[in-house]
Parts: sequence; structure tokens; C-alpha cells
Amino acid sequence: MPMPYKSRTESKELQILKLLYRRMDLPDQMKQYYFNLKKGFEGEVKFDLLTKELQCECFIFNDLMLSINNTAIQIDSLIIASETIYIFEVKNYEGDYYYESDRLYMKNKVEVNNPLIQLKRSESLLRQLLQSLGYHLPIVASVVFINPEFTLYHAPLHLPFIFPTQLNRYFRKLNNLQSKLSRKHKDLANQLFSLHCEESPYRQLPSYDFDRLRKGITCAKCDSFFTYIERMNVCCKECGNNELIATAVMRNVEEFKLLFPDRKITTNAIYEWCKIIESKKKIKRVLETNLKIVGANRWSYYQ
Ligand SMILES: [Zn+2]
Repeated sequence: MPMPYKSRTESKELQILKLLYRRMDLPDQMKQYYFNLKKGFEGEVKFDLLTKELQCECFIFNDLMLSINNTAIQIDSLIIASETIYIFEVKNYEGDYYYESDRLYMKNKVEVNNPLIQLKRSESLLRQLLQSLGYHLPIVASVVFINPEFTLYHAPLHLPFIFPTQLNRYFRKLNNLQSKLSRKHKDLANQLFSLHCEESPYRQLPSYDFDRLRKGITCAKCDSFFTYIERMNVCCKECGNNELIATAVMRNVEEFKLLFPDRKITTNAIYEWCKIIESKKKIKRVLETNLKIVGANRWSYYQ
């Protein structure tokens, strides 16, 4: 009975970049950063499908952010079994890479981050934390290359790498662990959970402002801006998807909130944001039905 302790969600950074990517022209470097972030997340979700299937007794943390001695560490996956703690750094690299003097290169000689460096740092900080909490479980740290299209040439045998072709075997072995969790493990899991901090300190966002972002309601299914109103629905010219106006407006209110946490939600702001809804009254009605009004007359806003 593995108990998933913490599930994985897209980071705020990724959610915001996703919205900005649609609504503004991101600088090339930022675009690349966004694509990498998105791809990384997809890889992690794929890895979760494997840990989810584990039958041995263990606690699973998908994505753990800890601040240890004022240093932040992020662990893609952490598994507590009775005798060992496993940590995984998941990489969704695709294509041909090679390893040379502790560095990792793409085939065209462009160097990429060696995930081992981050992994070693996380392992060391986590060990310090466990010791300070009075636990002495050994930590086994591995880098998982999750993409089946990944090849790494010249990888030394002793490195803690798990390649796509080894994943099934690796998990079969984990599954056969004679793991018996006790009260102590549960306490540790609770402690780690309480130390988890939600926000990534690594936020790298471009500057943006309301006036310069593209307005309109994007399609809920294909993200296209080619949407129009037909009776009670927002319809998409690209894929034919239909969505109730109220649902679409509230989805866009969520986007607005995420992008501009300090701005007040007003009828005027949402009217401008959604752009394709012709009547302010309709916007007002949706906001009134779904949110709480604060204040009166023309200075009122919604929460
Ligand atoms: Zn669509």
C-alpha cells in the first residue's frame, strides 16, 4: 500500500509562462526556458505514473521543495521505504548526448546542465536535514532519464543514472523490497511534508503588464484566440469547441488573478481582458454569480 503523500502540480511559474506565451511575444531565451520547463514537467508526470504503480510499502513525494539552512532544494521524487530513502532527479532530455569529464553535451557539442550536480547537492542537504531531525536512513540518489528517445554515449558505469531501457527493471526491483513502514517513517513523512514550501524560489519571469498583453478568450481546448460568441457559448473557429460563456469568463478571471495578483477584479478589467463579450452587463452578471462583491457603486470589486 504505497501512500502518495504529495501530488504534483504545475508550478506557478510554469502556469504563468504558459499564459504569457499565448498573450505576448516572449524573448527567445524565455521561450526556450518555458519549453524546457514544460518538457521537464511532462517528464516528471510520466515518472509519477511509474511510482504510482508501486506495491511495496512506501511514502511517495512527488515534487518536494525544502529550505535547508537557508538553501532551497527541489527534489523531483522522494520515496521513503523502511530501510532507505530514494531520491530522483528526473530528466526528459531527448536525442543523442555524450558524457565527457563530468560534463554532459548534446551531440552538437552544446553543454547542458549535468543533473548529477544538482542531485549531489540535494542529497547532501537532505542528509543534513535528516540528521538534524534524528533520522539515520541511508539515501540513494539517482538521475532518471525518462524519455525513450534518449541516448547517452560514454556514460561511466558507476554513475547513478537510470536509463529508459532500465526503468522497468528498476521498478520491479523496488517493488520486491520487503519494506515495512513504522510510526517513525510516518513521522518523518509528516515532518517533510510540513517543511515543504509551495513557491519555487527560482522564479524567472519576464516583465509584463496588463496593457501590453493580448486580450481575448482563448479556446479551452486548443488555446486558439479565434473564438466568437454564439448565444450562450464561446465557440472556437479552429477546433469547434463550445464552452458556456460563464465558464469561459471565470476561466479568464483565474488567468487574470494568476497574472495580476495585486489588481482588483472589476467588471471593467474583466470586460477588457475578455474582449469578445460585447455587454459589460453580462460580465457583471457572471462576476456577481461566482464571486463575492466588495464595496458599492463604481468602486466595487470582486473576490
Ligand atoms: Zn479550439
